Amino acid sequence: MAGVKYVYYFGDGNADGDAGMKNLLGGKGANLAEMTNLNIPVPPGFTVTTEVCTYYYAHKKSYPKELKSQVESSIAKCEKVMGMKFGDVKNPLLLSVRSGARKSMPGMMETVLNIGLTSKTIPGLVAKTGNERFVYDAYRRLIQMYSDVVMEKAAGIEPKEDCGIRMQLEKELEALKERRHAKLDSDLTAADLKDLVEVYKKKIKKVLGKEFPDDAAAQLWGGIGAVFSSWNGRRAIEYRRIEGIPEEWGTAVNVQTMVFGNLGDSSATGVAFTRNPATGDAHFYGEWLTNAQGEDVVAGTRTPNPLNKVTKSDQTKHLKSLEESYPKLYKQLFDIRTRLERHFADMQDIEFTIQDGRLWMLQTRTGKRNGIAAVRMAVDMVNEGLISKEEAVMRVNPEQLTELLLPMISPKPEKLAKEFARGLPAGPGGGTGKIVLTADRAQAAKEKGEKVILVRAETSPEDVHGMHAAEAILTAKGGMTSHAALVARGWGKCCVVGCSALEIDTEKRTVRANGVTLKEGDFITMNGTTGRVYAGQLPLIPAEPDKNKYYKQIMTWADTFRKLGIRTNADSPVDAQRAVAFGAEGIGLCRTEHMFFGDDRIKAMREMILAATEADRKIALGKLLPLQRKDFFGIFMAMAGRPVTIRLLDPPLHEFLPNREELMVEIAKLEITSPKSPKLKSLRALLDRVQELHEFNPMLGMRGIRLGLTMPEITVMQVTAIMEAACDVAAKKKPVKPEIMIPLTGHTNEMHAAREICDATCKEVLKRRKMNVKYLIGTMIEVPRAAATADQIACDAEFFSFGTNDLTQMTFGYSRDDAGKFIKIYLEKKYLPEDPFQTLDTEGVGRLIEMAVKMGRYVRKDLHVGICGEHGGDPKSIEFCHNTGFNYVSCSPFRVPIARFAAAHAAIKEKAAAKEAKKSKCGCSK
Ligand code: PEP
Ligand code: MG
Repeated sequence: MAGVKYVYYFGDGNADGDAGMKNLLGGKGANLAEMTNLNIPVPPGFTVTTEVCTYYYAHKKSYPKELKSQVESSIAKCEKVMGMKFGDVKNPLLLSVRSGARKSMPGMMETVLNIGLTSKTIPGLVAKTGNERFVYDAYRRLIQMYSDVVMEKAAGIEPKEDCGIRMQLEKELEALKERRHAKLDSDLTAADLKDLVEVYKKKIKKVLGKEFPDDAAAQLWGGIGAVFSSWNGRRAIEYRRIEGIPEEWGTAVNVQTMVFGNLGDSSATGVAFTRNPATGDAHFYGEWLTNAQGEDVVAGTRTPNPLNKVTKSDQTKHLKSLEESYPKLYKQLFDIRTRLERHFADMQDIEFTIQDGRLWMLQTRTGKRNGIAAVRMAVDMVNEGLISKEEAVMRVNPEQLTELLLPMISPKPEKLAKEFARGLPAGPGGGTGKIVLTADRAQAAKEKGEKVILVRAETSPEDVHGMHAAEAILTAKGGMTSHAALVARGWGKCCVVGCSALEIDTEKRTVRANGVTLKEGDFITMNGTTGRVYAGQLPLIPAEPDKNKYYKQIMTWADTFRKLGIRTNADSPVDAQRAVAFGAEGIGLCRTEHMFFGDDRIKAMREMILAATEADRKIALGKLLPLQRKDFFGIFMAMAGRPVTIRLLDPPLHEFLPNREELMVEIAKLEITSPKSPKLKSLRALLDRVQELHEFNPMLGMRGIRLGLTMPEITVMQVTAIMEAACDVAAKKKPVKPEIMIPLTGHTNEMHAAREICDATCKEVLKRRKMNVKYLIGTMIEVPRAAATADQIACDAEFFSFGTNDLTQMTFGYSRDDAGKFIKIYLEKKYLPEDPFQTLDTEGVGRLIEMAVKMGRYVRKDLHVGICGEHGGDPKSIEFCHNTGFNYVSCSPFRVPIARFAAAHAAIKEKAAAKEAKKSKCGCSK
C-alpha cells in the first residue's frame, strides 16, 4: 500500500493539487497548484501539507518517516524542469521556503529565500551568471532571513524590541552604506557585499552562538522546520487570536524554485491586486521595483514604482510604471490578471517576478480589502455577472461595514488645518490620537484607555499587537502593499504609509516633518482617505453611508435575505431617529432609568425616594409623570408607528442618591466647620435613607420587578406616562405601538402580579382618555429561573426579550462589572473560547434560551421573541438568534447595519446548509 502523501508537486503545467485543497495545502500551495494547472508560468516547486504540521506538533517536533524521500523526489522533478541541481557545484538550483496557512496571515509567518547558497555553490553560480554582485546580494539576504527566522525565532529566542538579529544585521548594512556613501542597497559593490557577509556571519556567531549552516540540505530542512515552529510563534498566535483562526489548522510549507527579480535591469518584482483593495475600483492596481527581490516591495524599504497609469499618485506620478517600461510584459501580466479574476471570481492579490525579461507568477490569493472596497467589489461583481447577490452579501463581513460608518475628519477644520506631512492613503477614515513610536507602548497606552497612533519607519509582523491597539497607523516608508497597509486594510483601520517626509528619532522620541518637530505623546490627526497628516487633534464626524450607492445596494439585497427583524436599544428621540436612519425597525429596549438623570428630574426622583409615606411618594411621582410622558411622546413620534418596547425602572434606588462615603465625609466636615447648619440635618436624613437602601449585592437586590412590586406606585406612574403619551400620539392620528416590558422576572407569581398592575393602569388611562390603543405586556428573560419556567411566565407575557447581559452574569455567576479581570486570563489560557459578555455562550446560556423559547411558544404559539443584551449586535450571536427562531434582535444604533447584515448571513448560511443536506441525502451532485 502506498504511504500517506505528504508532498504535492507543481510545475511545468502539471500539479498534484488544486485550488479546492486549501485545508491540506494551505491557500498559497493550493493556488500555486491551480495556477500551474491553468498553464500560467509558475516556478516549479512542492507543498508540504498541513498534516505534517499537525504530525510535527503531535510527535515532539518530528516528521513522518516518508517525508524525506517525498521531498527529495519532488526536488528531483524541479531539477529536471529547470535543468539545474540543488547543492550542485556548477549549476546550483536555489529554493525558497514559505509558509501558507488555509487563510492568509500576511507577514505573520516565515519566508526564507535563496536556500542552497553555500561556499561550494557560490562560485558555480557566480561563474554561471557572471554576476558576482547579484550572488553576494542573494547570499546576504539568505543569511539575514535565515538567522532571523530559523536561528532566532524558531529557536525560541525572544530578543528585546528592535534588538533582534535581523535588525542588528540591518544596522551593519546601514553602517556599511554610510561608510561607502551609498544611498541605496544597490549602490554597494560585490566586494562590499562579500565583506558584509563575513561581518554577518561573525555577528551571528557572537549573538546567537552558532555558525550559519554551510550545507544546502541543512538550510532547506532548517527552513521547513522554522515554518512549522512559526505557527506557534508569538506573532502568529496573536494574529490567530485577533482573526479567530483555529490553532488546529496548522500551516503548509511551500518550497519553490527561486526566480530572481534582482538579476539586473531587465529583472523586476512586483505585487498587484486585480482591483483596488482600498476603494474597490475595478482597475488593475499594483507596485513594482526593478532589480529587486519580492520582499523589497512589501517590506517598504524602497518606495516602489506604480504598476500602471491608474496606480500613480501625487507622490509616485514621476516614477515609471511597468506599463511604460515593459509594455509587452505588462500586457502578459494584465491578461493573467483577467484570467485569474474570472477563474476565482474574486479579487486576487498576486506576486510576480520578471527574471531576465521572463514573467513568473509567484502567488495568487484572495486579496484582503477594506470594508468600503469589499462592498463596492461585491456589487460590481454581481453587475458583471461574476457572482450572485447572495454571494455578494456573503463576501462582506458584517464587521467590515463599520468602516463605512467610520468617522472622518470634519471637513471645515480640516480645510483650515496645516498639513504636517503627506503619504499614501492605505486605510480610509479619520483617526486622531497621541503619537507612540513602539508597538509595546501602543498596547500599554490602549490598556490605560488612551487613544494612540502608532508611528513607525515601517511596520513588521512584530508590531501587530501595537497596530491592533492603535487608532491608526502611520509609516514613513512603504507602499500600498507594505505590511502596514495590508494589515490595516484587513482590519479596516485608518492608515497612511510611505510618508517619506517623516524623520523618526526613536531615541529622542520625536517625529519631524517639514520643519516641525512633534514629541511622542503629542496629538496628530490622520486622513486615511487622502493620506494627509495634521499636527494636533481635529474633530471627527460620523460618516454618511447613505451617500454610498454600493452600500445602499448591498444593504437592500441583505434585507431581502434576512428573516430576523432588527430593532435598536435607544432611550432618546435623537438615538431613535439615528437608528431608524440606519434601518432599525423598532425599539427593542428603551431603558427608562436614563431618563431620571437630567437636572430637572434627579431632584424629583430623590424627593420620591426620600418620601416617608406612600402619599408623599405619590406627590413626587406626580412631578416625574409629565417629564416621562414627554420623553415617551418624543420617542413614539420618532419611531413613527414602529414598535417601541419600554422597560420599566430596573436599577436599585440608591443609584439615584449621592454616594454614601462622600456623604459621610461631607457630614463630618460640616460637623466641624458649622455644626448648627440646617444643611447638616437634611444631609443626615439623606444619609439615613442611603444607609437603609444600601445593599451588599445590589445586582441581586432590590431592582427590576422586585422594585416595581414593592413600590407599585412607580410602575403605575411609568405605565400611565407610557399610555398617556401613546394616547397623545394617537390623538394626532399617528400610529403608535407601545410594548411594556417588565425587567428581571424570575417567578410566574411576580409576572402575574406585575401584569395585573400594568393592565389595570393601561385600562384606566384608555378609559379616561376614551381611546383605544393596542399595547403589549411582556418580560425580559434575564434570570435562569425565568428561562427554566418560561412556560409558566409566558401565560402572562406576550413577548420575551432576552436580557443576555444579566442572563450571562447569572448563569456563569460572573459579575458583569468585575469579570474583565479574570476573563482576560481565561481567554489567554483558553478556559473560555470567547468573552461570554461579547459573544453569546451558546452551549450554556444559549441552551437556556433555546429551552425558554420552546417552552414559551408551547403555551403561547405567537410569543414574540427578541434579544436586547449586548449580544444583539454581535454577528455570531445573531446567527444563534436566527437559528433559534427569534423574531428580532435589538442593538445600539451604530450596530444596526451590522446586525442587518449578520442576519442576512445567517439566513443565507441556513439555506446553503439545507441545500447541502438535501444533496447528501439524495446523493446527487446538483
Ligand atoms: C440585559 O441584562 O441584557 C439588559 C439588556 O439589561 P441591562 O443591561 O440594562 O441590565
Ligand atoms: Mg438586565
